[in-house]
Amino acid sequence: MLDIAKIRADFPILEKQVHKKTLAYLDNGATTLKPNQVVSAVEKHYKEECSNIHRGIHWLSERATESYEATRGKVKELINADSTDNIVFTSGTTAGVNLVVQSYGRNKLNAGDEVIISAMEHHANIVPWQMLRDEKGIVIKVVPVFEDGSLDMEAYYSLISDKTKFISIMYVSNVLGTINPMQEICDKANELGIPVLVDAAQAIAHMPVDVQELNCTFMVFSAHKMYGPTGVGVLYGKTEYLEAMPPVTGGGDMILSVSFDKTVYNVAPYKFEAGTPNIAGVIALGAAIDYIQSFDWKEVEEREEELIEYAHEQLQEIPGLKIIGTAKNKSGAVSFTMKDIHPHDIGTIVDRSGVAIRTGHHCAQPLMESFGIVATARASFAIYNTKEEVDQLVKALKKVQEIFA
Ligand code: PLP
Repeated sequence: MLDIAKIRADFPILEKQVHKKTLAYLDNGATTLKPNQVVSAVEKHYKEECSNIHRGIHWLSERATESYEATRGKVKELINADSTDNIVFTSGTTAGVNLVVQSYGRNKLNAGDEVIISAMEHHANIVPWQMLRDEKGIVIKVVPVFEDGSLDMEAYYSLISDKTKFISIMYVSNVLGTINPMQEICDKANELGIPVLVDAAQAIAHMPVDVQELNCTFMVFSAHKMYGPTGVGVLYGKTEYLEAMPPVTGGGDMILSVSFDKTVYNVAPYKFEAGTPNIAGVIALGAAIDYIQSFDWKEVEEREEELIEYAHEQLQEIPGLKIIGTAKNKSGAVSFTMKDIHPHDIGTIVDRSGVAIRTGHHCAQPLMESFGIVATARASFAIYNTKEEVDQLVKALKKVQEIFA
């Protein structure tokens, strides 16, 4: 059994009083809080190992390089990659998608080639493809979403044609919480030899993710949504793809040799990591992975499922409240609207009760449009959340109703 009191003690920020109320942090889809172990890893780097990596031969630089590279091994284990060479450090999910689009997409896709995304994508998995469309004339095809927030898989199958040259779909929706049938999506892509990118930003902290089992070509996620620091992310790529892809950012550390006539690039993953990276951040991601790996995934999933189910039950009791996305297979987030009340008003009022939720379009404006709304309020969960915090939200929402009655 997860010891929630012990887990909560790892996150001292949870003791904070907000507007003289105990904080209920339900904005984990935006970013999770960071445990002491992660904060200490940042501090330890700057206090004890502060140095640049890869280039130095002195003691401190060797220590920092070891710690930085150790995280690559931890990521490899976490997602069951074949090798640390498959792990590229980026600044986040957004940077990972852009890297794939600008490197693979720009070099391999041509006018008329089709890329399949879904209607529930985050802007990070829409806009980079649109930029490529404007530059090269590729065509973006969109898998629609049913009223319950699940993907229309029949449409997915029917959108695939011999023009389909890439598939890029999120694992878990940051708005609806829907867990997409990623294995099925990848299986079909692999059957036809189409590369597939999995945006695992909202999956990585909530469920075991196995890139070899999924057999995805690429996977991207952010450290800050898995108890790690901001400004760090991961791009996983299959060896044959990463090896063939050109770098998109040039500079130090991504080269083997440079002259004015010719530069020889380093091998993957280093050729994609130009310049001084977020060293402390990557090391702290290692601490975040250690933290996640110290729990049993089955227990984490069970607990979060229980919390989501409880949130659904309680929220449904509030008259005029509508849950957006009621698919069975959900993780992490519950979005809702309240009759005649703007989500921003909901967010502002519940904040006065110490409850932190997110309101707005959640960087998924096309999804909002497909539901005929402009915004939702979203409660999103992490390992430290409790039913009492859901109750605190529900109580605060009742107050919202009283104010608008
Ligand atoms: N993809 C999904 C599903 C997300 O939820 C987010 C952030 O909310 C992103 C991509 C972008 O992540 P980042 O801002 O860390 O690059």
